[in-house]
Amino acid sequence: MRKATITIHPAAISHNLLQVKHRVKSAKVLAMVKANAYGHGVAAVLPALQDADGIGVASFTEALEARQLGWDKTIGLVEGVFSAGEWQQAIDNHCSCVIHHRPQLDWALAMLPPSDSPTRMVWLKYNTGMNRLGFDAEGVIKAAQLLHDAGYQLVLTTHFANADQRDHPLNDIQIQRFSNMLSHLREHIDPDIKGSLCNSAAVINFPEYAYDWVRPGIMLYGSSPVSDKQAYELNLQPAMEFSAHIMALQTVNTGEAIGYGSRWIAGEPTRTALVSIGYGDGYPRVINDKAYVCVIDHNRQNNYKCPIIGRVAMDMLVIDLSSAPVDIALDSQVILWGATPHVDEVASHAGTIGYELLCRLSARPERLQA
Ligand SMILES: *Cc1c(COP(=O)(O)O)cnc(C)c1O
Repeated sequence: MRKATITIHPAAISHNLLQVKHRVKSAKVLAMVKANAYGHGVAAVLPALQDADGIGVASFTEALEARQLGWDKTIGLVEGVFSAGEWQQAIDNHCSCVIHHRPQLDWALAMLPPSDSPTRMVWLKYNTGMNRLGFDAEGVIKAAQLLHDAGYQLVLTTHFANADQRDHPLNDIQIQRFSNMLSHLREHIDPDIKGSLCNSAAVINFPEYAYDWVRPGIMLYGSSPVSDKQAYELNLQPAMEFSAHIMALQTVNTGEAIGYGSRWIAGEPTRTALVSIGYGDGYPRVINDKAYVCVIDHNRQNNYKCPIIGRVAMDMLVIDLSSAPVDIALDSQVILWGATPHVDEVASHAGTIGYELLCRLSARPERLQA
């Protein structure tokens, strides 16, 4: 059987959640599970997130899936709802929504949830400099007053544009705007208004601004959210292992080329292996010459780093086995990413970030739980 496997380690997710909690002390944690839990599978990760105070999703469909899986705590819709009908559904399914523009505000004011409904808590989005979603200062103050008067509990929220770079000048500006606004709303509208500012990168770089809710995503899955530190330096464990197997072995003669485009040409007789993984599974097609995999020799209990040569195809890729023992067998396991290489390293070889590689895995690999 062709083997391409995604193995999820729930224990790593629980460990990473604990790292979040250590850093932010008493703030509540809205664990981000949008995009199918960053490609890990919502069903696979929810059991490991039982100590989170809530989960965050981007769409109502994702919220429903989590409810169907039995998640009974807070679900935050971080883009809010997209229609009046969805607002009603959010009420029916006990979701708590972001309100980032006038139509959402109008739906909330027109359809008040029951007084004990979790939908009575709304996340009012303030645009502090990212310039995507959110009200400007004047709009936030007006919306806050209207929502408060209607009986809603408010969490003022915003999103960092550059929290991964600690010294970026916009960070301080966003923090200032946010904290000034929160003080203003608490003073003039309701002292009990909550705040939520930090994503993963800010949990690492600005934990002193954790306020009432933090919203970590990528770090729960064991990737580094910051530009200057790797995951292991932050004591984060990768939650996913993406692996395949050697499906054929070959020796390529000097001058012979490999794969589409004949991009790689053997400078000497070269032992190669075909690996049962390709871009049809979600491995990136565009990679540089530093990209490698780890071949596992279970007999010797050893791993061998082997470079990828030639073009990555839909169903397979080719590796150079020169650095591995000559008796590496057919069917040996090959790690695309996991402990080594880390998905962040593969991403750096593919000109992207770990987030994207994790999210764009296809449905073809078999999914297992460790
Ligand atoms: C996705 C998302 C997060 C999580 O970001 P990470 O960088 O993965 O920690 C936090 N807040 C909002 C609003 C988001 O959309």
